[in-house]
This record gives sequence, structure tokens and C-alpha cells, in this order.
Amino acid sequence: MFSPQLLGRMPTARATSATWPVSGVPSDVFSRYMRMAGHDVLMVSGTDEHGTPIPVTADKEGISAKDLADKNNAVIVTDLADLGLSYDLFTRTTTGNHYGVVQEMFRTVPANGYMVEQTTQAAISPSTGRTLPDRYIEGTCPICGYGDARGDQCDNCGNQLDATELINPRSKINGETPNFVDTQHFLLDLPALADALKVWLDEREAEGHWRPNVIKFSQNILKEIRPRAMTRDIDWGIPIPGWEDQPTKRLYVWFDAVIGYLSASIEWARRLGEPDKWRDWWNDPDALSYYFMGKDNIVFHSQIWPAELLAYNGGGSKGGEPGDYGVLNLPTEVVSSEYLTMGDQQFSTSRGHVLYVGDFTARYMAPTRCATSSAPPVRRPPTPPSPGPSS
Ligand SMILES: [Zn+2]
Repeated sequence: MFSPQLLGRMPTARATSATWPVSGVPSDVFSRYMRMAGHDVLMVSGTDEHGTPIPVTADKEGISAKDLADKNNAVIVTDLADLGLSYDLFTRTTTGNHYGVVQEMFRTVPANGYMVEQTTQAAISPSTGRTLPDRYIEGTCPICGYGDARGDQCDNCGNQLDATELINPRSKINGETPNFVDTQHFLLDLPALADALKVWLDEREAEGHWRPNVIKFSQNILKEIRPRAMTRDIDWGIPIPGWEDQPTKRLYVWFDAVIGYLSASIEWARRLGEPDKWRDWWNDPDALSYYFMGKDNIVFHSQIWPAELLAYNGGGSKGGEPGDYGVLNLPTEVVSSEYLTMGDQQFSTSRGHVLYVGDFTARYMAPTRCATSSAPPVRRPPTPPSPGPSS
């Protein structure tokens, strides 16, 4: 009998709850099936609440970043309850527990040699003097020539980008050309982890379970791998261990959001009163883990997250020793479809081509809640043991 762990993508709390059920519903179907088949299942997720759009949007609305994150989290939690998804724990990335787990990961990764300190360039808005977030800069993609690539990613070729690489960069907010200034940052040394990532992906491919679109995409982006900044000039995020004297720099959402799966498991075990119980899912090499997400998040689950885990484990070309959490399991499977479409057009919140969960549940579902919408998710009693397929 094997023990699959179910991991839906951390739905981002910076958008309204529109498209994340693309990951929540399939992971729920899969977990219900696996429970019925007699397996132990832990299904965790939460809202990912850091990143640059939160403070930018909060500024526009005249509220604090924390208030905006609270507001968006409440919408998502209500939608989850209305859909009846069977999470063992649905949490957030703004908890003290998550901060502690992320900082433990961050201390160990550079100790193993997988963070490089580098002077990079930050974009400054000439009109406000403030840092301009990468995704608020647009320009021409240096790899494929797409004209509306973002400063963090090209939606056409799927490559991650730095804003400084864009040809003819411009601010998405007001069209001005940003000034680029020197700033110090920590970069995850992805090239030092590339060989180990390739071995892992080749093993996954040989198993034959991953969907072809996901495995091919993941192998492709490995060819363009390079160091990635994991800190930002921003005051919304997790403080950087060792850089406490620089409050204007924080760990970036790229580093912390994916750690939410681990921190949620640790929180679940603590709430259960068995604080080491999470280790059954993360340290036991026979435990299986499945991550469900939309296509735009594959890179974070098939490259950034396994790279962070390998760096923490000391599993890259620079070697190293695992930290207090021990050797952590890499994903068994990253499950994703192509983009979700409606009437032959891609779902898009910004273009209003979208079905909101609230509208869907109001129209098609019978009420399932009675004054429990803000209660923590209920842990289901353990599934009675029954013979399952042996792994
Ligand atoms: Zn491109």
C-alpha cells in the first residue's frame, strides 16, 4: 500500500477566485478516489499572499496589503466551502508557521552553497521614485520576439525573464520607461541543480505517468536554466535571514509560495497534536506527492520547487547536508492541463473572459454551508484500512 499526498496549487490570493478551481476540483476528485481505494491521503493547500501585485493593488484601493490579502483569502475560502472540496487543511502563506518554515529553508539553501549574492538591477519608476514590479513592466521578449512579454515571464514562449532583458521596456501602469539601478540580491543557483533536475525529470518520464505536455515543457525550460533572484526590493514579504537590517528587501514570492505545501503539512500535524506526523509524507521515500495546477504554474512546480528541495537536501552539484527537516521528497507528479478555454478563448480575469466561482455556486449548487464558512477545514477521520495496490 502506498501513501499519496495530494497537493493542489496554492491559489493566489492576489486574484479573485476565478480560475484556481482548475486545480482544486481535479485534486479533490483524485483525493476522494484515493481515500475510497483505501489509501492514506493528506490534501493541503492555501492562499499564496505575497508578491508584487498585492501592494500595488492595495495602493490603488487605498487599503493595506494585509487587508487586501485578508479580503481575497475570505473570498477563496468561502468558494472552497461552497464547492465542498475536501482539504485536510487549507491555510495561508502569511502565518507565523509559514514564515518560520520558509526561513529554515532559506538558511539551509545558502549554507549548502546554492544561493549566490549578486548585484542586479531594479526598475525604478521615474515619476514616483518607487520600485516598479517586474510584472508591471512590458516589452519585447528577447527570446521569441513577442511584443507584450512581461518583466517576469513571456506568456508566448513560457520562459522566465528579468525585466532588464526586455527590449524597449515600458511601465504597464503609465507607459513610462523605467530607470534601472544597482541593487544587491540572493539568486538561487539553478545551474548547480540542473543535472539533478534532469535526472529527476528523466526518471519521471521513464515512469510514463506525467502528461506529455507537462514533461516536455519541463524538459524544455531546463535548457534555458540560469540563476534566479529570490529576493526583491519590496516591503511586503518574508524578512530575509541575515538581512534583517535591510527592511526594504524581502524574500520573493517565487521562493516562498511553493514552500506553502511543506508548511501546510507541518501546520496540519501540529493542529492534529502529532507535530512530527508530516514527516510520513515528506521524509518517507515511499510516500507519493501529486501537485495540481494551471499551465502557467508548471515552471514553479517542475523547476523552482524541486530545485529548492534538492538544494535543501544537498542534492545538487555542490553537495551539502539537509537541514532540520531531513531529506525532503521531490514531487511524484506535476498534473496540469493546457490553458482553460471558454468559447475558444483563453480564460482571462483581466479581459473579463471568466466564470467566477461565486456566480457558479450561486446559480448551480444547493447551499451546503450553515454558518461554518469561516471555520477551519474539518479533518476527516482516517480512512479505514483496506488492501490497496502495493507500490
Ligand atoms: Zn518569449
